[in-house]
Amino acid sequence: MTDCIFCRIAAGEIPARIILETDSVLAFHDLNAVAPHHALVIPRLHIATLDDAAPEDRELLGDMMLAGAEVARQLGFAKKGYRTVLNCNHDGGQSVYHIHLHVLGGRNLSWPPG
Ligand code: AMP
Repeated sequence: MTDCIFCRIAAGEIPARIILETDSVLAFHDLNAVAPHHALVIPRLHIATLDDAAPEDRELLGDMMLAGAEVARQLGFAKKGYRTVLNCNHDGGQSVYHIHLHVLGGRNLSWPPG
């Protein structure tokens, strides 16, 4: 999707601070970090929301989770702990309609979220 900002990051058309890349996903630093560590993991394939994911996306969704864990290890906060978040649609707080996993760490995260 040419008008999708995350597709354009995946295509290298928009710069991002990349943390890791695989054949199926990439991870980069969030532009507006809400924690000392805040990364996003996106699939290269455009899926608008979690509600649009299908059974055939199972492996890709797993790749995203495992990449999130790898990001936390690479950035050094895996052992202290972190949170992964996937916002879905309006009430979930989603603003970019290309599925993405937030990886948040570096401070004590409160619960429940706002
Ligand atoms: P969400 O509200 O769950 O859809 O999250 C979208 C996230 O994308 C927000 O945390 C934004 O700060 C982040 N974001 C938007 N544009 C960019 C960009 N060009 N590079 C990095 N992060 C971005």
